[in-house]
Amino acid sequence: MLHLDDARAKHARSVKHRAIRRLVLFFGVIIAVGIAVAFGGIIDFNPRDLQHELKGTGPLAPIIYMLISGALGAVFVPGPVFAIGAGLLFGPWLGIPVGLGGAVVSALICREIGVHMGRSAAEELAGARLGQMTAWLDRYGAVAVIAFRLMPAMPDAPLNYAAGLTRLKRWQIAVGTAVGSIPRTLGWGLVGSTAGGGNGWQAAVGFTLIVGADAGGVVAAILIARHLGMTPKALWRKLRGAPAEHASPNLPTMRIAIDGPAGAGKSTVARLVAERLEYTYLDTGAMYRCAALASLRGVQAPGDIDVDFDANGSVQLDGEDVSLLIRTPEVTSLASQLAAEPSVREGLVARQRELMAEGDWVAEGRDVGTVVVPDAELKVFLDADPLERAERRAAQLGADVREILAQQQERDERDRTRLTSPLKAADDAVILDTTGLSIEQVVDRIADLARERVTPAG
Ligand code: C5P
Repeated sequence: MLHLDDARAKHARSVKHRAIRRLVLFFGVIIAVGIAVAFGGIIDFNPRDLQHELKGTGPLAPIIYMLISGALGAVFVPGPVFAIGAGLLFGPWLGIPVGLGGAVVSALICREIGVHMGRSAAEELAGARLGQMTAWLDRYGAVAVIAFRLMPAMPDAPLNYAAGLTRLKRWQIAVGTAVGSIPRTLGWGLVGSTAGGGNGWQAAVGFTLIVGADAGGVVAAILIARHLGMTPKALWRKLRGAPAEHASPNLPTMRIAIDGPAGAGKSTVARLVAERLEYTYLDTGAMYRCAALASLRGVQAPGDIDVDFDANGSVQLDGEDVSLLIRTPEVTSLASQLAAEPSVREGLVARQRELMAEGDWVAEGRDVGTVVVPDAELKVFLDADPLERAERRAAQLGADVREILAQQQERDERDRTRLTSPLKAADDAVILDTTGLSIEQVVDRIADLARERVTPAG
């Protein structure tokens, strides 16, 4: 067992080191290119030189300009240069959509590079914390992108690459970039068109727009940050991976209890709901699994173990990361037997209540809504056709469906018929049958129910 633990720890360390190396390489290359372009004079982009070349391309000229400026934007040539160039070459009316198009092309190129070079490494390294940190981006999508674009002094290329580390979709980045870049592209475009033969008022309007956009951007950024509860303190907590305080100081505590039989999709769904709403996720089953592991290791009172969850979502038993060790079939079977022991339940339920005493939570298990927090603000009982549940598990584990179905029936029977805290839906739980539903549909439904129940405290 010890050898196995050592090998796993070694493997985890090497995965982590590899992820760090990949991220350092990724950001190192980006920073090196940025410095080379800024100080090395490698790229000398002069729209007037392009004017001659583009003439020959006729109606394709705006598209070619968008592609060239998009590619150069990805190597740190600043956005205003292209906006001015677009105004200069195409005049104010065509120049502005062309400038916006270039900004969108650049954002999408950087996103693809970010996704392929950096995201998996960042996920390996930060685990669930990356999801927690970027959950609000996921929630606000294109609106969050607009907010970033409106903020002054935001460097385009690094921001675009960082977008690749999030779960923002291509269309959200494209729409957010196009809309959020309008004021400055318009301003610089007008300035550029003056240089190309426009009149003085265009330059005056252009500069006014740029200054106005910067001032408006600061105000918008502050308002949005306040609306999202992104105070410096909240941001610091988030970076440390500490549990979120209430999403907004005006909202009461929210505890979502998700109970149901094995394989109903509770853990995947609960994790995603927690990410989406920026609540803290609690896997109570992992605690019973820890009790089983402790018991297998000879601990006499497995209800008194010290279980915790670290910022990456890994399960800590007496300070040791046991996230993988508690998923073996041996532990799984013993966990459901031990879970019927009142002394074990007593200890672990007390710990669960202690954890959930403060903040917003999504906790999943068998008795969260009936016993652990019977006053939870939202209770959901997830169920699904037994065969479908077994099929999902078998696909996850690459195991035989019939075997999983038999084990599942045995566990369900034990959980449902035990005397202490049997598995059952609370009277006021919303029963959700997930048969035939996608995970996304279930998560949407629960997140909607939660939002309906959270009303600002009067
Ligand atoms: O959810 P998971 O399969 O990880 O849970 C492991 C076992 O812990 C379950 O089979 C169940 O018997 C027990 N359990 C429980 N009460 C909870 C959570 C899990 O009895 N709240």
